[in-house]
Formats: sequence, C-alpha cells, structure tokens
Amino acid sequence: MTIGISQVLIMRSVIESVLIYAKVCHPKEGILLLRGKAKKDVIEVSEVMIPPLSVRSKSFSFFSAHLLPMDFSIVGIAHSHPSGILAPSVEDLNNFYGRIMIIAAFP
Ligand SMILES: [Zn+2]
Repeated sequence: MTIGISQVLIMRSVIESVLIYAKVCHPKEGILLLRGKAKKDVIEVSEVMIPPLSVRSKSFSFFSAHLLPMDFSIVGIAHSHPSGILAPSVEDLNNFYGRIMIIAAFP
C-alpha cells in the first residue's frame, strides 16, 4: 500500500527477510521496520529491522513508536497476516507508520 508515492524499489534481500520472518512467526503475526531512502515520491527499501519490544499475537502485532530513536531511514513497516488476507485492517490503517506498508499473507 502506498500513499503519494510513484515508485517503490525493494531489494530482494528485504522481500526474502520479510517472508522468512513471517514464516518463523507463523501462526502469529510478525512485524518489521523497513529502512532505506525516501526521495520525493520514490522510496528505496534496503533493509529491515525488528522493532524493539514488539508484540506478536495470532491476530495483531505492534510496537511502540516512542521507543524508537529519531531515525529518518525508517520508511515504513512490514507485517504478516497469518489469516491469508492481504488487505490492511482498520487497525493497520490507524497505526500506519512511515510511508509504505507491506503485508505478507499466508498462501
Ligand atoms: Zn495487519
């Protein structure tokens, strides 16, 4: 999901990390921070980071943004939906962090 962005470039290692983390966390949700560069309407995602003290359960995952240092390299979040539903939930949209959100769903 993107807002006001024309292009998102994601390194293959980021996709692999998101999928592996989702698999490891299954059947709970996993959540990761996406790091990279944002230049105007182009986002480049180059690495992932596990948010400190993140909470994972079967129906939600979250972290406290106030525990993060001031880090302008965080461009968004990625999390998994063990249910297989690819659409963002209302909670996802209300807790959007950064500029992009990636959802990995169970096949
Ligand atoms: Zn979600």
